[in-house]
Order: sequence, then structure tokens, then C-alpha cells
Amino acid sequence: MKKAKIALIPGDGIGPEIVAEAVKVLWAVEKKFKVQFDMTEALMGGAAIDAVGCPLPEETKQVCMESDGVLLGAVGDNIATSPWYQLPPELRPEKGLLELRAAMQVFANLRPAILHPSLAASCYLKPELVANGLDILIVRELVGGIYFGNRGRKPCEKGGETAFDVMEYSTYEIERIGRVAFEAAMKRKKKLVSVDKANVLETSRLWRAVMHRLAEEYPEVEYSDMLVDSAAMELVRNPARFDVIVTENMFGDILSDEASMITGSIGLLPSASLGETARGLYEPIHGSAPDIAGQNKANPLATIASAAMMLRYSLGMEEAAFAVEKAISGTLEQGWRTADLEPAGKPFLTTSQMGDKVVENLMLL
Ligand code: NAD
Repeated sequence: MKKAKIALIPGDGIGPEIVAEAVKVLWAVEKKFKVQFDMTEALMGGAAIDAVGCPLPEETKQVCMESDGVLLGAVGDNIATSPWYQLPPELRPEKGLLELRAAMQVFANLRPAILHPSLAASCYLKPELVANGLDILIVRELVGGIYFGNRGRKPCEKGGETAFDVMEYSTYEIERIGRVAFEAAMKRKKKLVSVDKANVLETSRLWRAVMHRLAEEYPEVEYSDMLVDSAAMELVRNPARFDVIVTENMFGDILSDEASMITGSIGLLPSASLGETARGLYEPIHGSAPDIAGQNKANPLATIASAAMMLRYSLGMEEAAFAVEKAISGTLEQGWRTADLEPAGKPFLTTSQMGDKVVENLMLL
């Protein structure tokens, strides 16, 4: 029987509630797909600060590094009122997450923007553009580019100051994110758009050259380039034309937020962060939602979908990943909703009831 080690980090706020539902789904996957998960819970964020005085205990790092995949709920609290935000910046909850990403060396951020056809009414775009739903995967470079380059200020000869942020990309950085994107495309519709600004930026010209070289290694993938300004327009004009998009850190930051806004609720969107090895970090894109924490109201689907991504990318269980995703869309098609979504003629479900529905649908597949 296949075995896999999973680190679970419930975190803060709604984190424990939504991770509990993903765990229920993983138990169902165990039954259905003859796999055995060894799941270990670990502390991070505010929960770790309260327990041991720092946001990423050494023990948590170790549990994560020894696992095949890490599933995280969310960390943090209300920034205005929580005592965690009176602490020095290096001891605050979010610092734990940044440190964990660095320790796991996850350089590729995968963010699917999925609009289920049954949720088309929650989308801001014209109905005909999204009649068949949307399923776009944005692969964003996460640890390079302008966010990590040299920056500073110097006196300006015309008075005042000059500020600068340097964008640098090396061949190896582009190649490794490119490979993640091509491999992801191979597992989907075999269509990849690389987004850059090669008409202006030298980093983009190198980016494009490396991507073209990789495209020769993946002849099955239908590859094209697009300038970032066109990509921003196309995402709202004709989003269905995209399948996988790969881009550098800052462009990816902006485009992935744009894409997530055309898909309805933040409670639906998962993410994966991957490095050189199969081990990855999986989390919903939303935060700890302190305003609804502890009320059994949060939507657990983004976390369940993150667990599906873990099955696909870290545990090599494509069939199980697909089944979990099918169970999620089936549940939405049946009209079941949590309170963050437009109602569909049925009473709203609680967090745990939504988890139960997904399990029920998964077991029926
Ligand atoms: P948030 O994403 O937690 O919440 C924004 C809004 O969306 C809130 O109204 C919330 O109720 C709602 N929401 C979020 N997730 C939901 C879900 N699953 N179901 C239903 N509704 C949901 O953003 P915020 O309020 O700005 O941040 C709260 C805390 O989370 C802060 O401390 C922030 O730093 C942290 N944060 C953590 C992560 C992470 O752990 N990766 C990411 C973003 C924010």
C-alpha cells in the first residue's frame, strides 16, 4: 500500500476549522484509493507564539522537512487589535510562513483561478464569457526578480532623492520555474502562455529566450508569449483562452490577484508552492479571517482544493486529486453553499457540513 507523510499546520483563526475538513477528505481518499497517510500536526503563526514564543518552532520546520507535503490553514489575526502585532516584526505570525517558505525553498507558486460553471452568477464578467466556467493556472516565480533585488535611495542632482529597485533574473532561475510550468501544462490541456515585457526589459528578453529553449523540450505543449499589458487585458476580455500562464514574480503577483477576482469567493481558491523536490507547501489563498473564526461559517473548499493539489503535485496521486476536485464541483452543482457564496435555493451549510458533503460526493464517485 502506498504511504505518504503529511505535515498539517492548522494555524490561527479559521485555520483549524478548515484544515479539519481537508483532513476528513484525506481520510476518505485513504479509504477510496488504498493509500495510508501519516499526518502530523505542527504549530505555526500566532498559535506557536502563544505556545512556545516564536512563530516557526524548530520542531515544526523539522516535521515539514521530513514530510512529503505540508498543508496549511492560515496564520495571523486582526492586525489592529491582536497582541501578536505588538511584538517585534520578526516574532509576528506571518514571519513564520515566510521563514517556512524559505526553509522549504519553494520558488514556484501555483495558483489556479477556477470559476465553477455553477457559480457563474458570482462572477463580475459578462455571463457569455464564463458560461463554461474558468480554469486557469498561474505559475508565478516566487523568490526572485524585483522583490528580491538590490534596492535603495541616493541623492538626486535635481534635488530630493532617487529610489531604485533592481530586477535581476538568471538563466537557472527562469529555467527552473519554466520547467514547473511546462510540467504543469503537460498534466492539464498542454497549453502554456509565458508572460513578459520583452519589448522593454532585458530580464524579459532572457526570460523569453530560456522559455523558447524549454519549449523545444516539450513539443506536445502549445506554447506562446504574451506581453504583460496584453495579458492583463485578455484576462478580463477573454479569460477562457488561457490554461497555464507562467510569469515572473511581480507580474505574477498582480495577474494572480486579477485572475482570482474573476472567480467569485476568496474561500474557493487554493495554492501550491513548490521547489526542486516534490515536497510542497499547500494553502488556501485567503488569510485567517478573524471576523468569522470559531463560528463554523468559513468556506473549507479552498483548503480541500489545496489538499487536492498536494495529492497531484507532491504525492503523485492524479486520480485522487481529480476525484476530490470533481467532488468539490459536484457539491457546488448540487447547490450547496457556505455563507460567503451567492445562495442557490438551499440553506447555507456550516464549515463542517460542507466538508461532509464533499466526502459524501467523493465516496459516490
Ligand atoms: P482574510 O483573507 O483573512 O479575510 C478577508 C475577508 O474574506 C474576510 O471578510 C473574511 O471573513 C473572508 N474570508 C476569508 N477566507 C474565508 C473563507 N474561507 N470563508 C469565508 N470567508 C472568508 O484577510 P484579512 O482579514 O486581511 O487578514 C486576516 C489575517 O490573515 C491577517 O493577520 C493577515 O496577515 C493574515 N493572512 C494570512 C495569510 C496566510 O496565512 N497565508 C494570507 C493572507 C492574510
